[in-house]
Amino acid sequence: MVDNLVLSQSVTALKGVGSKVAERLHKIGIQQVQDLLFHLPLRYQDRTRLHPLGSVRLHQECLIEGTVKLSQIKFGRRRSLLCHIEDGTGSLVLRFFHFSKTQQQQLSQGARVRCFGELRNGPSSLEMVHPEYKIIAVEGFVPVETELTPIYPTTEGLHQLSLRKLLKQALACLDNSSLPELLSENNRLHPVAHYSLTDALRYVHQPPPDVDVQQLLERTHPTQRRLAYEELLAHQVSMRQLRQRTLQHKSPVLKGVDEHSQQFLQQLPFPLTNAQQRVIDEILLDITQNQPMQRLVQGDVGSGKTVVAAMAVVSAVSAGYQAVMMAPTELLAEQHLRTFKAWLEPLGISVGWCVGKQTAAERKQTLADLDSGEIRVAVGTHALFQDEVVFNNLGLVVIDEQHRFGVHQRLALRDKGKNLELVPHQLVMTATPIPRTLAMTAYADLNVSVIDELPPGRSPVTTVVIPDSRRDDIVARVAVACQEKRQVYWVCTLIEESEHLQCQAAEDSTIELQQALPDLRIALVHGRMKGHEKEAIMQAFKAGDIDLLVATTVIEVGVDVPNASLMVIENSERLGLAQLHQLRGRVGRGSIQSHCVLMYHSPLSEKGQARLKCLRETNDGFVIAQRDLELRGPGELLGTRQTGLPQFRVADLVEDQDLVAVMQQAADSFLQSTPERAEDLITRWFGHRIDFGQV
Ligand code: ADP
Ligand code: MG
Repeated sequence: MVDNLVLSQSVTALKGVGSKVAERLHKIGIQQVQDLLFHLPLRYQDRTRLHPLGSVRLHQECLIEGTVKLSQIKFGRRRSLLCHIEDGTGSLVLRFFHFSKTQQQQLSQGARVRCFGELRNGPSSLEMVHPEYKIIAVEGFVPVETELTPIYPTTEGLHQLSLRKLLKQALACLDNSSLPELLSENNRLHPVAHYSLTDALRYVHQPPPDVDVQQLLERTHPTQRRLAYEELLAHQVSMRQLRQRTLQHKSPVLKGVDEHSQQFLQQLPFPLTNAQQRVIDEILLDITQNQPMQRLVQGDVGSGKTVVAAMAVVSAVSAGYQAVMMAPTELLAEQHLRTFKAWLEPLGISVGWCVGKQTAAERKQTLADLDSGEIRVAVGTHALFQDEVVFNNLGLVVIDEQHRFGVHQRLALRDKGKNLELVPHQLVMTATPIPRTLAMTAYADLNVSVIDELPPGRSPVTTVVIPDSRRDDIVARVAVACQEKRQVYWVCTLIEESEHLQCQAAEDSTIELQQALPDLRIALVHGRMKGHEKEAIMQAFKAGDIDLLVATTVIEVGVDVPNASLMVIENSERLGLAQLHQLRGRVGRGSIQSHCVLMYHSPLSEKGQARLKCLRETNDGFVIAQRDLELRGPGELLGTRQTGLPQFRVADLVEDQDLVAVMQQAADSFLQSTPERAEDLITRWFGHRIDFGQV
């Protein structure tokens, strides 16, 4: 231990930190000694108690002890050493695939062995595979550890034991110098904030012997909650700053209700739902101000988000500005293009588009027309992000299916105008309903509107869950639906990671279905096809020239074919709930009764059953999203890692929902009373992991 080390010193002052280790630490955001203190244990191992063999359970990670009754080498598919141990209450097997002669001798009959590991199911009994073990004296009491063992997130070249040693030194430092308390007085009134930061940190790094182990393992201990509170606050404060920074920009004042928008509404083939009207009002209120709108519209699949976006677009054009609508796929961009042309061209508004597949000549023309302002409304894909795309006077950016884009992309479009004084308003739309607590964290820089009503006349999709052993029955259902002049989607989801294999599976299914249903007009659409091929097929499907469309998950977003009344999803157990719900939203878009068949491959785990059951029981995207959040965590639910949601160290957006719920207020009080501490708070928790400077 180095004497008089202080927390603000560089980690290189620590024993064992040379330039290499320092570099690795820097990579995970640790520069000063105090940063180490915020490198919190992911979990703990409990080696403080011995578990009788008769009481251990599957998947438990625990310390056990026993006497070797039988030790033998088995020659099966893999040679392994099996040691049967007993302790008078029960028995289990230790299994080693790699072992030396010495180990084999150590673990021979009569030896007393103490092990730590996870219990798995073996052929005849519970097993520990390659446990940490030590041979102990046959007689007498051998002490157990007195503290829980923290397990830290490691990184390449930085091992658990080295991290533990570094943390020991950093904690010793806490005796010499103290960490400033950054919470405001008001923040500290919250019950979890009664612990001081220093006490909480000491506790989680070195839990004392009398700790409530269960609480700590479940991350519900008051000290952990104290830290989670501060971490969530740091995040909320950083999002506030981001928002503050955005609001310093000026935006063009767009038109509220005028003849243009009246005319637009009159020529729509349907009246707006109350929810659509309410959300449109919220948007119009924003864009008639000279500060940038930052609004997220959430609405379940089929709730009618497109028309809401179109109203905002009309308002921008009426005020003399251009508007752009971004979609995540060309397919969807094309659909929007058609819709917008149908709705806007009668009003004299020119609609153009910008996608990757355009020829060089087309593209050149588009770029020129965007630059000159000839195109008032542009629909497109990622191609709109490219540097050479410049707008004449961009007033509004709409991003559809926002979960497919990252926060940086979202902000990149802001700087597309020529007039850099004025930044466009932003409207982002998503069909993935995000539970409130998560939205408040992930999208804390946005205002949220919810379209919580479907257009009238929709009959809810009924969903059934069927094993793929009954494939023939399902094929028969497809035949019936098509006889009734309905159309059917057959979705192949086989391998999420590999688009190639997914396409392969879809091709195989197509051949199989064509053989089983020779009278049907069957087509295949998948992600590896060229844009125009995909478009041609989707168009044919929409026109009713195809009965059965076999597809990969490319059809997940947005495509609208009201006559489709049946969707079959193969291997549905492999997809997340929100994604399945999204896919299912492709049917039930007309007034006919629609069905969704979730096929699964047996055996289905208990969790898998529960997941599919949830889809069967509800059509409410919010309920489904909440379940998905609980089952798979926020990263999966939001569909991408680039949503701007950081990896939290202690906070858990599901477990700590109650803390998330008070964060708005907590951030208000923090920023009112101690705004000067904001930077320190953010750096303490997020270091430079979130690059707010850029946005
Ligand atoms: P999503 O929210 O999934 O993007 P869309 O905007 O594609 O939904 O709308 C789904 C379908 O509902 C479209 O065919 C659209 O024309 C129709 N629609 C939208 N709003 C209404 C409404 N108020 N009344 C009837 N049909 C509507
Ligand atoms: Mg849509």
